[in-house]
Amino acid sequence: MELTDHIAIVTGAGRGIGRAIALELGRAGARVIVNYRSNATSAEEVVAQLGGRGRAVRADVSTTEGATTVLAAATEWGGLDLLVNNAGIHDDRLLMRMTDEQWQRVLDANAGSTFRMCRGALELMYRKRSGTIVNITSVAGIRGNAGQGNYAASKAAIIGLTKTLAREMGRRNITVNAVAPGFVSTDMLADVDPRVLEGAKGMIPMGRFGGSDDIAPLVRFLGGPGARYLTGQVIAVDGGVSC
Ligand code: NAP
Repeated sequence: MELTDHIAIVTGAGRGIGRAIALELGRAGARVIVNYRSNATSAEEVVAQLGGRGRAVRADVSTTEGATTVLAAATEWGGLDLLVNNAGIHDDRLLMRMTDEQWQRVLDANAGSTFRMCRGALELMYRKRSGTIVNITSVAGIRGNAGQGNYAASKAAIIGLTKTLAREMGRRNITVNAVAPGFVSTDMLADVDPRVLEGAKGMIPMGRFGGSDDIAPLVRFLGGPGARYLTGQVIAVDGGVSC
């Protein structure tokens, strides 16, 4: 229970990786704000599983207003110890056919939300000189991925932001790291061409896709006492894809 009395926010926590992270933080003793955008039922299920240590907050965190709404919930609870920027989307197309709208929407949803949530969270963490931010990026942000120019660019932006904030905030005892999943079996992979997925699986040294529960324990560790001197890192959890 190393996160007892910690207040955490997980964006996009109603399903997928965010849900697994919220539940893992709850098992470590944290109180968790479960942000979601559209599906209140699944977010409330996560809150129910958190057994009184959770609260669902509906907000589109790609907007300043939405980010402010989520952060206000943490303030009501008394502050913020751990922010996990997990919310994300993809909208894949070869770059030569990609529209301006596709580019901007994915950049706003992924990098824009991370920027806006970090900016607001730092106001809460800066004064008390402690806090942890974990940004969920992707191996696509490290290596690129054909058909995902907008997504890869947004995830690379998150890596740049992570390293910059680690430098800006180190002396305030605020750590900022990024977790880069490889292929993880969630709804996000559901609309990817099965032939592309088969090819992708062949490139994974461990020979299988990850599960959300392969990602969540690392986030718990990064939020806990064992990681207090760990900052500015991008840690891939990808079955060896990026090694
Ligand atoms: P997912 O199952 O599609 O879930 C994404 C979550 O993000 C949903 O709960 C969604 O909420 C939420 N969300 C999206 N935009 C939002 C916004 N503007 N405001 C609030 N919530 C928003 O995806 P996932 O696979 O769990 O992905 C989680 C994170 O891991 C993403 O950042 C993704 O890029 C990253 N990642 C995933 C993989 C993978 O293979 N799955 C690999 C590398 C990185 P709604 O339900 O309301 O739409």
